[in-house]
Amino acid sequence: MSNQTVLVINAGSSTVKYQLISPTDGTAIASGIVEKIGEDLGIIEHKFGGHAYTETLKIDDHGHGLRKVLELFEQYGPNLAEANVVAVGHRIVQGGSVFPKPTLVTDEVVEQIRELIPLAPLHNPGHVKGLEVARELFPDVPHVVVFDTSFFQTMPAESYTYALPKAVAEKFSIRRYGFHGTSHQFVSNLAAQTIGKPLEETDQIVLHIGSGASVSAIKNGKAVDTSMGLTPLEGLVMGTRTGDIDPAVVFHLYREGGYSIDEIDTMFNKQSGLKGLCGHNDFREVLGLIEEGNEDAKVALDVFVHRLLKYVGSYMGVLGGLPDTITFTAGVGENNAMVRADLIGRLAGFGIKLDPELNEVRSKEPRIISAPDSTVKVLVVPTNEELEISRQTLEFVK
Ligand code: AMP
Repeated sequence: MSNQTVLVINAGSSTVKYQLISPTDGTAIASGIVEKIGEDLGIIEHKFGGHAYTETLKIDDHGHGLRKVLELFEQYGPNLAEANVVAVGHRIVQGGSVFPKPTLVTDEVVEQIRELIPLAPLHNPGHVKGLEVARELFPDVPHVVVFDTSFFQTMPAESYTYALPKAVAEKFSIRRYGFHGTSHQFVSNLAAQTIGKPLEETDQIVLHIGSGASVSAIKNGKAVDTSMGLTPLEGLVMGTRTGDIDPAVVFHLYREGGYSIDEIDTMFNKQSGLKGLCGHNDFREVLGLIEEGNEDAKVALDVFVHRLLKYVGSYMGVLGGLPDTITFTAGVGENNAMVRADLIGRLAGFGIKLDPELNEVRSKEPRIISAPDSTVKVLVVPTNEELEISRQTLEFVK
């Protein structure tokens, strides 16, 4: 194995995902996931050479999990000592305003990521643990942190500023940060390539619709607005998140409903969205229910598409006209022709049209699905956040 490789690590609160990637040709050589860290029984799945190896055992903490992963590499391959690993790239959800680009990991950087925990209490604690353990286990290669927020650091103040008292916003670092940035960056690059235009000459709207969902407006290749805010809760209706909601709902539930702030936090993040509306957060299940004539599921889908439509409409305003591309990505965006047809059908008044046959094609390749006479090219571009992280990491260490 002579190609340079990067080990990409995405450490969550109770999971660690990893991929060994060759950034130059885009191959994922091996990958895996450690799940249920700290629970009675954890699971590790390691994939290499077309096989998946699973072990169930109690995994005490992130260190234990990552050491097990190294054992699986030794046992089932590939041999990491021969894999030419030139760096470890870490996905970090929240980089605040501190990290506008990938950064070499030092003790000080780990401390800064720890200090950002109040802005990302669900994500940054796991990242810090992952960083500490990985630096011990891979002491001889540089570690690089790649942030979900960096791509959106180009947003102008009018997009990222909330209309709060200025001093309060400053004191508590409250602003729009945006998330899913590596996905929006990867997809907008490929979308420009797919239509054969330099990225810097494209205006784009990217719809990342998975269990989490976000929209971005991209002007001349740079992010100018996005739907997620201080946290990933704002914006679109998601699997279990409300997305946009009148903040007064919080006061009302607190005062009249007797809910605590933590209960409302859990309700808005984990029990709302599609799940709250119809009992299911997985899109395939929602669509299955609609086929059975379930009214709640139909309303859930309509609320979801209506919110998406409002963002696309407002971002055409932000961009000052029709974009070059509207691109669908992530689990739902890549796989669900029905949602794509529903949304684009509602944009017919702007001359935006799908080619119904192209929309039905299933493929892992980036592709145009709009009709030849559509005023905007509509695309499906499969996202690959790990590959983007590996590329940014390699770029950095070069
Ligand atoms: P992600 O978070 O990007 O992995 O996306 C997860 C979401 O994508 C879930 O709601 C899935 O139901 C949905 N999804 C994945 N595959 C399909 C598919 N083939 N058809 C419809 N939805 C899908």
